[in-house]
Amino acid sequence: MKKGLIVAIDGPSGAGKSTLSKRLAEDLGYINIDTGAMYRAFALFSKKKGIDPADEEGLARLCPQVLIEFSREGAQEKVLLNGQDVTADIRTPEISLLTSRIAAWPAVRRTLVDLQRRMGEKGGVVLEGRDIGTVVFPDAEVKFFLVATSAERGRRRYEELKAKGLEVDLQQTIAEVEKRDADDSARAEAPLLQAADAIAIDTTRMTIDEVLGEMLRVVRQRQATA
Ligand code: C5P
Repeated sequence: MKKGLIVAIDGPSGAGKSTLSKRLAEDLGYINIDTGAMYRAFALFSKKKGIDPADEEGLARLCPQVLIEFSREGAQEKVLLNGQDVTADIRTPEISLLTSRIAAWPAVRRTLVDLQRRMGEKGGVVLEGRDIGTVVFPDAEVKFFLVATSAERGRRRYEELKAKGLEVDLQQTIAEVEKRDADDSARAEAPLLQAADAIAIDTTRMTIDEVLGEMLRVVRQRQATA
């Protein structure tokens, strides 16, 4: 029996997916799955192994060697790559750009999509990414597509990186966010796309609590009719 609904949250980087996915899962008592962190962990692994992001065969050879897990210590969610904590290492601007490149390859996507489906198939989950409502769980009961202007998304990413003590430039961060969106939208395999039945929310001028309230309202309505 399913433990609850499958909630899909897609959208470009910096639209608020990570924060909202975590908060929504907490409020619903669901498991939160950050699929971007899985692609990031794969990118870090490929870098450690010295595989060029253009080398599809090399990346395909890595697939059976990659074990990605999430662990939770109190409020702290950790990403484990082959048992090692890589939570902080996968958040650098360099890994962000590398991730978009390796995420374009079908072999990499197949491996991670299989894993995401196994993690989410029992329901009671919120998954956030780029292709959750279109590819990973096209039958998800609730689908959101979060958007915001690239200037606002770049500013949010900039504040996030600065708070972590990284040296960053605002204009460069906006340009990197735009480059990543362009790559994610243009790729042939599972591009960033709004599912036809997804509810779009423009978060540019909304607070986190306002967006969360709207999402909870939609999910609770769906729970009542499920
Ligand atoms: O969400 P986040 O910014 O951490 O994602 C990092 C990158 O991982 C994205 O820019 C995208 O290239 C890739 N990604 C993906 N499909 C997903 C989640 C992330 O291709 N479902």
